[in-house]
Amino acid sequence: DPRLKAISESIRVVPHFPKPGIMFNDITTLLLHPGVFKDAVDIFVDRYRHMTISAVAEARGFIFGPAIALAIGAKFIPLRKPKKLPGEVISEKYVLEYGTDCLEMHVGAVQPEERVIVIDDLVATGGTLCAAIRLLERAGAEVVECACLIGLPKFKGYCRLNGKPVYVLVESR
Ligand code: 5GP
Repeated sequence: DPRLKAISESIRVVPHFPKPGIMFNDITTLLLHPGVFKDAVDIFVDRYRHMTISAVAEARGFIFGPAIALAIGAKFIPLRKPKKLPGEVISEKYVLEYGTDCLEMHVGAVQPEERVIVIDDLVATGGTLCAAIRLLERAGAEVVECACLIGLPKFKGYCRLNGKPVYVLVESR
């Protein structure tokens, strides 16, 4: 796909952020180019529009999920850090490099058997996507696929997603 080159080139890599030794993939530079931003959304939309997806879920960032959801006629489910959602929630803890984190979802956001896509900007260890998958599956939803702009193959996160496939646009180091 010729669009992938511009997508890859518009992601800024920032060495030693947020701490020494980490190469941070900054997607905010991609968002400054509306044509490239649109291409990234369009690639996901083309992939999912005919897969009878009724919901798109995204953890924390909410940059790509709402645009994709609107374009394919699906609902959007925000998965948030604790104490952000006012209604009854279910939560999932997950392990980070140092310590743990937690994601929450409103009870009733998704119905049993609904076909859901989980989107995130980047997959590294897969811990965040895994927590998202567990939340949705506890609610009875069917997670069809995970979708990410960037995959970091060195973390081998792709095979830790509860057996769910992950669709990655570009790989980075
Ligand atoms: P994982 O849970 O797969 O180890 O890490 C992925 C999560 O951390 C994603 O939610 C992602 O937004 C965030 N993340 C980790 N490293 C980076 C990075 O280099 N760039 C960006 N944009 N997000 C990152």
